[in-house]
Amino acid sequence: MSAHLLKAALFALLGAALAWPVGHFFEPWQGWAVFCISLLLQMVFHFRNFSRLEAWTRAPVVDDTLEGDGAWNGIFGRLYRHEKDLRQQIKSREDEIGLLIAAGQALTDGVILLDTMNQIQFCNSMAETQLGLVVRTDRGQHIANLVRQPEFVDYLAAENFERPLLLRSDRRADLMLSIHVIPYGNDRKLMQIKDVTQTERLDRMRRDFVANVSHELRTPLTVLAGFLETMQEIEVDRDERQRYLTLMAEQSQRMLSIVQDLLTLSSIESAPPPCHEVVDMATMVDRLHRDAQALSGGRHHIELLIEGQCDLRGAESELNSALTNLVSNAVRYTPAGGKIRLTWRSGGQGAEFAVEDTGIGIDPSHIPRLTERFYRADRGRSRDAGGTGLGLAIVKHALSRHQARLEIQSTPGVGSCFRARFPASRVVLL
Ligand code: ADP
Repeated sequence: MSAHLLKAALFALLGAALAWPVGHFFEPWQGWAVFCISLLLQMVFHFRNFSRLEAWTRAPVVDDTLEGDGAWNGIFGRLYRHEKDLRQQIKSREDEIGLLIAAGQALTDGVILLDTMNQIQFCNSMAETQLGLVVRTDRGQHIANLVRQPEFVDYLAAENFERPLLLRSDRRADLMLSIHVIPYGNDRKLMQIKDVTQTERLDRMRRDFVANVSHELRTPLTVLAGFLETMQEIEVDRDERQRYLTLMAEQSQRMLSIVQDLLTLSSIESAPPPCHEVVDMATMVDRLHRDAQALSGGRHHIELLIEGQCDLRGAESELNSALTNLVSNAVRYTPAGGKIRLTWRSGGQGAEFAVEDTGIGIDPSHIPRLTERFYRADRGRSRDAGGTGLGLAIVKHALSRHQARLEIQSTPGVGSCFRARFPASRVVLL
């Protein structure tokens, strides 16, 4: 028995101990009166503390003013400590839950927790954005009432969650989501939603690229195979044979150019970021000018303008590939007698290499897509000009690795101007 209870029992006994001598030495009724008064006093005392306890349990306040009388003080003290411990535990649990929620919100993937009835219990803000949910109003709703796309509804109903579901968003057509449902606990589910738009896009680009390369190589290979078969099967005279061989050499050269450009693209892609070696631009543009004249074979009037003196920091081979492609395009897409101007211009704001021609020009609808691999404004003309469709892709890639950009202005039938603009950070003023 605790000291407090012992005290309470002693106090009760004290009444009886007082009443007995009074009843014995005086009148018995006087002894009973003393006993009743002591009982009454004890009842008042306990009632007072009991009502205090009752009031406190209705609205427990954690402050140490909660005091009782006598034996009650110890009980109140323990109650107070118990309540305080409880509140501290609740507070630390709340803090832990708050941290877990914050961690869920910090995830870059969408996360939704579903209860046993597939109703939303928790949903982070990424999932809200991805699926167009509003957690405030949608908590407790069945997920299939909010994400109604049949593919998702079937996936959820089939309960085969080994593989994630690829779902194109019905709100944003460009958004591709991978939804993986992971069962946990007692028939509860965690939905992990990843934005795989970029991965899907890269995957599609890779597939398109392989298809394009195969297509580009298949055409000359088919021509070559056709001629070989003809020459094997029929006797052809000397002139015909010579014509076939010339055409076969052209197709081989075409395949070689495609493979060469593919290798250039791949080496630019896999190379480390361009170093900061200083490239002698005066020598490079002079060489480009001479190469253009050689390629033109005197069919064009080609001039070189140099305004200001500066070099560039970067990878010489990449810059050379980019600028050579611009110059050779100008020569190839400008009919004989046309003019081509190469300008190397520098200033405080940066530098630019511009190639202007009076060639066939490009319809504005094609300009935004010209730097895509294998994109041509005019397929037949590109083939006749010995093009691979990869030149401007190489230019764009090499320039972007030097934080430079390509600007294209063109008018069909009038001419084009391709500008490679380099930022001041790449320029070394001489
Ligand atoms: P290609 O090997 O076919 O020339 P590019 O990637 O170098 O491929 O160029 C893509 C397309 O851009 C070309 O097929 C051509 O239609 C157009 N083009 C590029 N440069 C010029 C230019 N100077 N004048 C007219 N059209 C051009």
